[in-house]
Amino acid sequence: GLLTIGQMLAAQARLQPNRIGARDLERAMTFREWNARSCRLANALLGLGLRKGDRVAVLAYNCVEWAEIYAAAAKSGLVAVPINFRLVGPEIRYIVEDAEASALIVQDALFQEVEAIREGLSIPSGNYVHFGRPNCPTGYRSYEDLLAAASDGEPADPARPEDPWTLMYTSGTTGNPKGAIRGHRGMSMLALMTEVELSLHRRDDALLVMPMCHANSLNFFSAFTYVGGTVTIFSRKSFDPELCLRTFGETGATFTSLVPTQYGMMLDVPAADRERHRFDRVEKLMISSAPARVETKRAVMKMFPNSGLFELYGSTEAGWVTMLHPHEQFDKLGTVGREVVGSAPIRLLDDNGREVPDGQPGELFSCSPYCFDGYWKQPEKTREAFIGDYCTVGDVALRDDEGYIRLIDRKKNLIITGGENVYPTEIEAVLAGHPEIQDVAVIGLPDDKWGERVHAVVVPKKGAALASDTLMEWCKPLLAGYKRPRSVSLAAPDDLPRTATGKVQHRLLRQKMIDKGG
Ligand code: ATP
Repeated sequence: GLLTIGQMLAAQARLQPNRIGARDLERAMTFREWNARSCRLANALLGLGLRKGDRVAVLAYNCVEWAEIYAAAAKSGLVAVPINFRLVGPEIRYIVEDAEASALIVQDALFQEVEAIREGLSIPSGNYVHFGRPNCPTGYRSYEDLLAAASDGEPADPARPEDPWTLMYTSGTTGNPKGAIRGHRGMSMLALMTEVELSLHRRDDALLVMPMCHANSLNFFSAFTYVGGTVTIFSRKSFDPELCLRTFGETGATFTSLVPTQYGMMLDVPAADRERHRFDRVEKLMISSAPARVETKRAVMKMFPNSGLFELYGSTEAGWVTMLHPHEQFDKLGTVGREVVGSAPIRLLDDNGREVPDGQPGELFSCSPYCFDGYWKQPEKTREAFIGDYCTVGDVALRDDEGYIRLIDRKKNLIITGGENVYPTEIEAVLAGHPEIQDVAVIGLPDDKWGERVHAVVVPKKGAALASDTLMEWCKPLLAGYKRPRSVSLAAPDDLPRTATGKVQHRLLRQKMIDKGG
């Protein structure tokens, strides 16, 4: 049958045991070592009493342990629940509890975040695992000690293609994040498709820069494990464009995947600094996750004249949906390309579920083996996301007469800032909890660096004197940094445009703010 990523890693360990399989900026492992350590981790977690299908939450910055953890889950049938390291206490607690995680693996640098919320979590007390420094804090098991004591043999009952592999939380329009279930079959198929689309081969090496807790990195991690190329995980807390360029040159990676904001930051590095690095091996550059400006794409192609720029459109739920290849960039620059190999034709549907003619906007539905297996414990939300085998995440698009897709809008009320998704409803709920706020609407305003920035329009209670710093302080313990409003404007109750049923019209409000020069 179809091999899982865990089985594919075992195959690489046999085929090319001494080649570097995975590394970060501190530690490198051959395929043989990586495979053995992943088996050890899988056996250690099973040894703690975890069973196939149990969830293991993971809170870590980018580091090579992610390669071991994802592979261990794939080998044992445990389900990895990656948590965005930018989240703060209450956000982390929500995910751990919703996923009903049986264990939590935390990197030392994020240990305090877990300590702050640990009381009351339903994870059994012996199932907290810690890595990143030799002295493991009390109440935690040492990751390295667990590995050292466990067998490096393949777990007896490996994950099967139909089993779930990861539960990835994406925020929802209704506020609370939902766990998207990604199964082995879908991910292995996605890996194979990626190899075909990008003509990947064993000598291709990836620099994974985007957070390993996101679908983008997991997708490419899977593809490179499948093909047997080296994966370098760029391990810095925040994106440093200069260091990224240097690492890209020094590792000799042929591939990377970045969001438009990151390419923009690279383009801002002075040419003299950029030109110090050699990019002879660079061949394949991915841009995705947020609308990319035509000028940005042009400038990236100029910065790396010998490599191809691919634009991808997809989501945590649907996997990769479309791709625009390098040779199409000149004619079809403003589009996200056509459906990837192995997908059924994309459908663009009107509100009655009828296909719209070419050139007309419709909600984008995709159907492929790469799609997710539904939302965890949310059958209603899963039903809403599908029509038959076709799934949607609420993007609105047009198709031209050659089948190229142009994204024009989103049905969901979503802000994408620096490639991270922020749902206004979640931020509004937090701000509405402030005792001096009567009403609030959160919108995304255009921003040169971040694509969009989070902006709050606040109606204070009568007589309240609200300063924007007080609001920032209010948000700090409750919201990850990227979700907090970057700017605030005060408004009178009538300034918020509403529908007949009283809902704030975010789109109209956004336009109003832009017209006012916001
Ligand atoms: P990741 O979370 O790993 O960054 P992702 O951004 O592809 O992956 P999501 O976070 O689920 O996945 O966000 C998906 C949304 O991002 C899409 O629904 C779409 O609105 C937007 N998006 C993704 N790719 C593009 C693109 N190339 N151009 C414009 N918007 C995009």
